[in-house]
Amino acid sequence: MEQTKTKELQEQITPAKAIELLKEGNDRFINSSRLERNLLEQVEQTAKGQYPFAAIVSCIDSRIPTEVVFDQGIGDVFNARVAGNIVNEDILGSLEFACKLAGSKAIVVLGHTSCGAVKGACDDAKLGNLTLLLDKLKPAVDGVPTSQGVVRNSTNAAFVDAVSLKNVELTIANIKEKSPVLNEMFDKGEIDIVGAMYDVKTGKTVFG
Ligand SMILES: [Zn+2]
Repeated sequence: MEQTKTKELQEQITPAKAIELLKEGNDRFINSSRLERNLLEQVEQTAKGQYPFAAIVSCIDSRIPTEVVFDQGIGDVFNARVAGNIVNEDILGSLEFACKLAGSKAIVVLGHTSCGAVKGACDDAKLGNLTLLLDKLKPAVDGVPTSQGVVRNSTNAAFVDAVSLKNVELTIANIKEKSPVLNEMFDKGEIDIVGAMYDVKTGKTVFG
């Protein structure tokens, strides 16, 4: 039975190992060989404290429940989920808590194929507060060059996925630029910050 992460286990996990654990978990997920866990037992084990080894910034998309697709249990990973996996000051603050105060060793910015938020940004959709969120994805849309005649909206699936990938890259740059706390930890090798793309057709995650 797979146990939750303890303080000792978390301390032993290097940034590189943290990424490796997520890769292995996704491999198990796509091979239908998820580890056996007693989640209620893990609730008891984590009642007095948590020692997650990674923090994942991902989209709210219902098809990508992080603990499921990386085969993790209770207390293993932090999740920051927001449409289009962007960062703002609240999410940066959450990541600073996860890494500086709670000991996580890696931040993964997880984009995905067929992202509705990215499609909305490509189409310049407007709706209430969503408009402001989609504005944060515009630099990624603008950052994907296309040849003349190529359609730059949600009808072009390849364009949409290229924008998602670009957005992961820009989100990582934003984390480093806008969080001196995390940037310093990254520079010192205390944490790694990596991008990854999840394919909604296969469940497979490709790390950058
Ligand atoms: Zn999405």
